[in-house]
Amino acid sequence: MENYKVLSIIGEGSFGRALLVCDLSNADKYVMKEIRLPKSSAAMKESRQEAILLAKMKHPNIVKFREAFEADDHLYIVMEYCDRGDLLETIKLQKGKLFPEHTVLRWFVQMCLAVQHVHEKRVLHRDIKSQNIFLTQRRSIKLGDFGSARVLSSPMAHACTYVGTPYYVPPEIWENLPYNNKSDIWSLGCVLYEMCTLKHPFQAGSWKNLILKICHGTYSPLPSQYSYELRSLIKQIFRQNPRQRPSVNTILKRRGLLKMVNLCASAQLDDNSDLKHEESASVIQNVTEQQEASSDAHESRFPVSGRRQWKKEATETVPDLLENASILTSSIGANRSEGGRVIKYGLNEKRKEWKKEAPETLLHILNNLDLCSAFQTYTIYRSKAPKDCLKGPLFNNIQAPDATDSREEDIEMDPERLASRSDDEDTDFEEDEVDPDWVSELQKVTDSQ
Ligand code: ADP
Ligand code: MG
Repeated sequence: MENYKVLSIIGEGSFGRALLVCDLSNADKYVMKEIRLPKSSAAMKESRQEAILLAKMKHPNIVKFREAFEADDHLYIVMEYCDRGDLLETIKLQKGKLFPEHTVLRWFVQMCLAVQHVHEKRVLHRDIKSQNIFLTQRRSIKLGDFGSARVLSSPMAHACTYVGTPYYVPPEIWENLPYNNKSDIWSLGCVLYEMCTLKHPFQAGSWKNLILKICHGTYSPLPSQYSYELRSLIKQIFRQNPRQRPSVNTILKRRGLLKMVNLCASAQLDDNSDLKHEESASVIQNVTEQQEASSDAHESRFPVSGRRQWKKEATETVPDLLENASILTSSIGANRSEGGRVIKYGLNEKRKEWKKEAPETLLHILNNLDLCSAFQTYTIYRSKAPKDCLKGPLFNNIQAPDATDSREEDIEMDPERLASRSDDEDTDFEEDEVDPDWVSELQKVTDSQ
């Protein structure tokens, strides 16, 4: 701590603070995340996961870990400073002026390369959103905020908790089904859509309609200036069945993206770190393999009968219940809701948890929650303006009809969403328990860098 000077506070949340600091020895700027350590040792381990997982990531499009230490009941994670702020701010600054397709594709490919690296390490990010994607002076993308990330391994492992931001949460979460790497892909699709339209894909005036829109996959089409490639990409990513959604490897193999993947890889080669050389080289090798293999990636699939099927865990899903429910109303939430899916934590409690419980419980909890929480990472807070409940930062009144009452031609439906499809590279994996020894784990990671 004494090696750093605090310059300013750049973010404040339920976890603690994000500080802009400078290293006293060389005046370089870094971000230092200061996280209050919870009292219980299990919760403490969970907090330390963020540092351990970030340290494991070594990719030019992921915020670079520098060091982590503990002092005065706080965990400090020091990382690369992304001086252009987050993508959400950048989108808002556009003031309605659409990004050129080239920019959208370049940023999206960089995000995919970052997510590819994360998934290769069998980690799920679980909170991909434009607020957690940062930009550098060179307008390169850096994926950050591994506060919700989890290590995964066995494809048979079952996820029993989920964290995330409701606007970006995939249908399988609402439908009480297991989630996996494809859930990150859905969130990535939401960010891609935001870059194309400067709006959230699924926005509504009530929890009911938000969840129904997500589960029905109804969203307004992209502006006409964007290509068929982008349209079809969005359509595939927003498939309701996670098995039918492409994995990040499949996305990066798309013909329409290959040129951009190559461009991003060679741009990274121009940067001077060994890491970047190494990563880019592997990307280029991947691309070459992909080009060879991409003659028709869709043909190399398991037969339908050989596929593992999603099991419905609950007889009634959230969308089923919502269809018959009256519109959920916004109300100021209780300080803490126990026993339900969404829990608001007090300042000194373990942050963020989203328990998988019966849809009925969820509905009950939602009824008592301030709907502003839909844009937060499972942190529920009181709103001063409850009427703006489900309005995320990109909400636009005029163009945000609820799914149930939109004109059909305004809405892009995905007719293929129920068609069966699988492909062998789209291996799904799910959450696994991990219980690392924090100091030795981090030591191992940093020693290997
Ligand atoms: P939280 O868990 O509260 O979402 P984040 O890691 O997203 O924590 O950090 C909170 C805020 O701090 C971000 O929204 C961003 O404004 C700022 N921030 C975090 N990390 C960085 C970084 N590496 N570079 C620049 N700003 C950052
Ligand atoms: Mg964040």
